[in-house]
Amino acid sequence: MRGLRVSDNYTSFKELCDQIAEICSPPAWHERARCRGMGHEMFFPGRGVQGHELTEFCGGCPVQQECYDDALSDPYRKGYWGGKSERHRLKEHGNVR
Ligand code: SF4
Repeated sequence: MRGLRVSDNYTSFKELCDQIAEICSPPAWHERARCRGMGHEMFFPGRGVQGHELTEFCGGCPVQQECYDDALSDPYRKGYWGGKSERHRLKEHGNVR
C-alpha cells in the first residue's frame, strides 16, 4: 500500500494550506481595529460588559463599518460586532439567524 506523501500533491496541499490560512486569519482591516489584541469575550454581553458599552466602544473604532459588514456576511455570527447586536442585525437585515 502506498503511503500519502505531501510531495505527491504539493501544489494542492499548498493551495489547501493557503486557503486554511486565509480562512483562519483576521481580515486586513482588523489591523486597525480598536479591539485588536483584546480577545473576543467582551463582545458577548452578559459576561461582564453591557451592550450599550460595546456600542459606545465600537463607535470609536476606525473600522466599524467593515466589522459590521463582515458580521452581516455570516448568518451564524453571534455577539456584538460593529457596535451592533445579533438581534439588531436580524431586525435590520433579516438574513441573520
Ligand atoms: S467595531 Fe468593535 S468589534 Fe468591530 S473591530 Fe471595531 S472595536 Fe472591534
